[in-house]
Amino acid sequence: MSITKRTVRDHAKALRTGEYSARELCLSYLGEIEKNDSRLGAYLTVDRNGALEAADAADKRLRGGDAPLLCGIPYGAKDNICTRGITTTAGSTMLESFIPPYDATVIERLKENGALLLGKTNMDEFGMGSATDNSAYKVTKNPLNEELIPGGSSGGSAAAVAAGLAPFALGSDTGGSVRQPAALCNTVGLCPTYGRVSRYGLIAFASSLDRIGILAKSCEDCSLVFSAISGKDRRDSTTVEKKAVSLSPLKGLKVGIIRDHLELCRGGTEKATLSAMEMLTRAGAECSYISTPALKYSAECYYIISSAEASSNLARYDGVRFGKRSASFENGLSDFYCKNRSAGLGDEVKRRIMFGTFTLSEGFTNDTYKKALSVRTLIKEEYNRLFSEYHILLSPTVVSPARLLSEKESDPAIVYAEDLCTVSQSLAGYFTCHIYHSRFRAVIGL
Ligand code: GLN
Repeated sequence: MSITKRTVRDHAKALRTGEYSARELCLSYLGEIEKNDSRLGAYLTVDRNGALEAADAADKRLRGGDAPLLCGIPYGAKDNICTRGITTTAGSTMLESFIPPYDATVIERLKENGALLLGKTNMDEFGMGSATDNSAYKVTKNPLNEELIPGGSSGGSAAAVAAGLAPFALGSDTGGSVRQPAALCNTVGLCPTYGRVSRYGLIAFASSLDRIGILAKSCEDCSLVFSAISGKDRRDSTTVEKKAVSLSPLKGLKVGIIRDHLELCRGGTEKATLSAMEMLTRAGAECSYISTPALKYSAECYYIISSAEASSNLARYDGVRFGKRSASFENGLSDFYCKNRSAGLGDEVKRRIMFGTFTLSEGFTNDTYKKALSVRTLIKEEYNRLFSEYHILLSPTVVSPARLLSEKESDPAIVYAEDLCTVSQSLAGYFTCHIYHSRFRAVIGL
């Protein structure tokens, strides 16, 4: 097996036995990127020199004997996570020349652990989308079938892991953007509980929902990376310090299957979920169907709240302090703002800003934004109640399998409805993870 198909755990072992060095490992991934990425489009920027320099430093540390587990392991990071000295565009023309003067906390922590950043991965502009076809730069293909979408918005990260262009990658998840591409590219996608991983240095989309997550080949790899990046950060006041959760035996575990999500399934996603349920039952878990009426409104609720927050977060990109500035403008300051924002932002981002601004406008907010906040509370209460009865809840991650890249849906309402299986957990802030059932078998020991 080519070494770029191996897991983080495999690499950590091989680097210690001397099977290969961090430099050799890094060169293998860079070679794969060179060979395949002009076709796949997983990366927006590759930092060859930076990665090799870090690999040499990692080899030195490894020779010293007490290197952290991630020392010498290459990775990719979604392009909305700030990296000092490396362009960070968030998939937008607005930030095409933004070179952050600082590292996000997650990048800093991975650096301290000796991991090597290979490059920045493609994404839907500012994280808005679920196919990675709303990027201002390129389309990313699904490595499992290059005519299909990889899912989004962290599609570049998922494709990189699935194609062996990185052993793991960081993504961000506001309403499903780590879990959905993980599902469509057959990787594991971990979206940690809100507050477990610092968002300092993550370019904000919707702050009450944004989380940084991990895409990798196995659950164990996700947990290794999670241990390195999680924990309190004084630069993100929403973070908490918590002890790692211990594994509980599957026998006697109470599992609730979200029937409302199963009923939405098309094209085989229901079958995949039910086979996961069967495996859990065989392993001794007690599975039963549950129904939660409040989840019916989760997409509307999510799109109102996330767009309202986005309209506020993205107001800073006016070409004065932040964002691309147009070369010419004629009629005063509002013309200047208008030109900059019109040229720098894509259609989907503009749609969300306009919708979000509307929901926050005087006279409309009671019927939209405030109502959505009440529904969010109901959804949270519903999950709290369910978790007092069940240890885990099982749901499909996506409503339908990956569509063709060439079949882009133009009606936003139809596109947004595809997120119905992931947005409610985002609104509630709970830990949520995509495990494809072929990996599921390994996790539960069958
Ligand atoms: N598809 C959802 C949206 O477009 C979720 C995106 C995300 O999690 N960043 O908002």
